[in-house]
Amino acid sequence: MHCGACCAYFRVSFYWAEMVSGGGVVPDELTEPLTPFLSCMKGTNSKKPRCDKLVGEVGECVSCSIYEQRPSPCREFQQSWVNGIPNEACDRARAAYGLPPLTQVILPHSA
Ligand code: SF4
Repeated sequence: MHCGACCAYFRVSFYWAEMVSGGGVVPDELTEPLTPFLSCMKGTNSKKPRCDKLVGEVGECVSCSIYEQRPSPCREFQQSWVNGIPNEACDRARAAYGLPPLTQVILPHSA
């Protein structure tokens, strides 16, 4: 998806070992510590979160500038109706930007 609301709504936190210094892939300098065990993406620990690595306009066209190095919450977050499953968190993030929930796309059976 190119909406990006989830990157600009939630605090994106993860176990510190996902950082390069812990043996993971997330560049340390793009994170900030939250607790002795958790870090978060810079920009997401504020009243108006927006990940520093999100590029573009939410709701229009965005991209993640560290896609291959993004942390697990970003990898695991599913937009609504992926695999036929709604995601209330996706809907909530989109609503914060005045965007309607995604709808389920029913594909016709192929012959
Ligand atoms: S790291 Fe990328 S996918 Fe994760 S919140 Fe930031 S911009 Fe979004």
